[in-house]
Amino acid sequence: MKIQTITSIPEMRKAASEFKGRIGFVPTMGYFHQGHLSLVESSQRSCDHTIVSIYVNPAQFGPGEDLTNYPRDIRKDIEKLGKYDVDYVFLPDDALMYPQNYKTWVSVDEITDFLCGKSRPTHFKGVTTIVAKLLNIINPDKIFLGEKDYQQLIVIRKMVADLNMNVEVIGCPLIREDDGLAMSSRNKYLSEKERDRAVNIYRSLKKAQAMFAKGIKDSESVTTEIKRILLDSELKIDYIEIVNPNTLRSETQLSKGCRILIAAYSGKTRLIDNLEIK
Ligand code: AMP
Repeated sequence: MKIQTITSIPEMRKAASEFKGRIGFVPTMGYFHQGHLSLVESSQRSCDHTIVSIYVNPAQFGPGEDLTNYPRDIRKDIEKLGKYDVDYVFLPDDALMYPQNYKTWVSVDEITDFLCGKSRPTHFKGVTTIVAKLLNIINPDKIFLGEKDYQQLIVIRKMVADLNMNVEVIGCPLIREDDGLAMSSRNKYLSEKERDRAVNIYRSLKKAQAMFAKGIKDSESVTTEIKRILLDSELKIDYIEIVNPNTLRSETQLSKGCRILIAAYSGKTRLIDNLEIK
């Protein structure tokens, strides 16, 4: 199917407002893998129309992060969407999203201060601002977000609730490569060796699940074991946290439904992953 692309805000607003049925929206930074496409599939299943945005949002990258190197391939992305029933791909640029004299930011307090917010202090403010702007333009019924970026999902849920935004936030399962590595556009940065090491992040999460299944429930023992696996694999740890899935606050004991969140570097590439304890 030929996908229609839109690069102007009034045009996007008009096209979305003319739909009669339910609109599903999938915001992305492009360079699609099956994780992105699974969100499109979810939207297609539960909505009448699907709009995907591709925009590498500079506001969510900190100084010295990978904004300029972030992988991009719009042509291939659009080709990949051809298999799906996508109505529009919105492709704004920086001049549209942050025109000169841009002054307004949306930020969520507290739950953005820890986990990824600690090493990336301006990241979530960039995310919530761009998502708020996109929601205002498209006005969808549902927004589809991956559990891969678990803190992002919780932060956006909070923004939507606190600002009384009229959209349902749908969290979709994390999609992995066959060997367990969480799919990410950033995996492209990994050398063969770094990629082999990175697989141990998932291995450590599975070990934690196995420990829980054996009755080991204290977070400290489980975290120590995860740490051992990551360090043995030459990964540099940013954080390992066992948290309540709604508040993201640390839990001293594992229980069904809690989440283990990890951020670690393989070489220079920062990777995140998480697992729900079952
Ligand atoms: P990004 O392009 O990295 O900003 O991601 C766009 C959306 O795709 C976000 O909602 C992500 O959480 C989601 N996503 C990225 N990777 C995955 C994955 N491996 N599984 C599920 N969703 C993902």
